[in-house]
Amino acid sequence: MNQNLKPSEREIIKLVNFFRKRAEKLVLEGKLSAEHEQVSIACEKLVNKLYTHAGNRSDVLERRRVLEGIIKDNASCPKCGKNTHIKHIGSEKHEQGWSRNKYKCRRCNIEFLWNRPNNPWDMVIFINHFIEKLETGLLDVNIDPELKQQSEGMILQMKDSLDKLLPIIETSDTELRELNERETEMAKMLHDLKNYLLIEKIKMDSWDAQPGAN
Ligand SMILES: [Zn+2]
Repeated sequence: MNQNLKPSEREIIKLVNFFRKRAEKLVLEGKLSAEHEQVSIACEKLVNKLYTHAGNRSDVLERRRVLEGIIKDNASCPKCGKNTHIKHIGSEKHEQGWSRNKYKCRRCNIEFLWNRPNNPWDMVIFINHFIEKLETGLLDVNIDPELKQQSEGMILQMKDSLDKLLPIIETSDTELRELNERETEMAKMLHDLKNYLLIEKIKMDSWDAQPGAN
């Protein structure tokens, strides 16, 4: 559970734990009234909330990572036709807007761009571009009937792919947007809590310096 936390979150949990131990000790020594225990309870709730948030963030980002990787471009070297010696060396944007992978074939010693999108978001642009191209082709009154049938079949297939891909992308984008909103809220809450605890710590230091009530 702990590994899901950001350093700033770990820091606040340390601070909360320190504060709680200190408060418990002071209550036992009669230097702090029992109502201060309420602060400890509130802190515990916040820490639990933080763990839930961190676990959720880790799940969302993991699903995002999986989605980013679903597009396999099956690249092969244009010279030797094999994929056994190719190495991914980067990516470059196509003029139509999709990002594609750049490879090097260590066998042929050439670099090449593989003209397929390398992520699901750009796959949508890519598919739409091809549907548009095919539909333009269909407008030609002299189109060969066989080609017409082929194009229509491909359009249906591509639209079907889009229907499957779009909801997955949308879900992930919504999840990420919501996560970012919660991140902002959580960061503000932790910031306030940290300031509060630091002030309480100073107060406790002064109480601790006083002789005990008993
Ligand atoms: Zn090659």
